[in-house]
Amino acid sequence: HRAGVALDTLVRVQQDFPIPGVLFRDLTAVLANAPALADVADALAWAEADVDLIAGIEARGFLLGAAAAVRRGLGVVAVRKPGKLPGAVLAEDYALEYGRGRLEMHPDDVPAGARVLIIDDVLATGGTAAAACRLIRRAGGIVAGISVAVELPALGGRAATGEVPLHALRAW
Ligand code: 5GP
Repeated sequence: HRAGVALDTLVRVQQDFPIPGVLFRDLTAVLANAPALADVADALAWAEADVDLIAGIEARGFLLGAAAAVRRGLGVVAVRKPGKLPGAVLAEDYALEYGRGRLEMHPDDVPAGARVLIIDDVLATGGTAAAACRLIRRAGGIVAGISVAVELPALGGRAATGEVPLHALRAW
């Protein structure tokens, strides 16, 4: 499909970023290209999935998640790096391909029982997406699925995210 072709054409692979030994897929050229962004946003929005709300993971998941939310007429909840959200937040720690991380979310942004689709650019080890799943469940939402532009199957993210339906536009 068109989103897959856009990713094949426009994603750049950068060796040793952000630290030595990591092969980083850079999607900024996809975001900067109008038809590519529209096609990827539509595909990530996963029209077949029953969804009430999109969750975008900071930072590239904000860009893609908001674009997908607008294409589906849905709102977007921000899943952020620590210290960025004012007021009461839920927090979850997780292991990352390079280091450790923490994600925070405003629980009030997730209505009780809302079916939430998590969107991010890349699924690697799955630690980030799994932490987002825990946040949404603790807030009273239901994780409807995880939608990513690129899955890196060698890093095991599909197993780390458990039973949650995973929608990946490309697996590299
Ligand atoms: P994970 O927690 O699945 O190991 O890593 C996924 C998170 O790290 C995502 O938020 C993603 O944006 C970022 N990430 C990990 N590897 C890459 C990569 O190769 N390219 C990009 N753009 N992001 C990556």
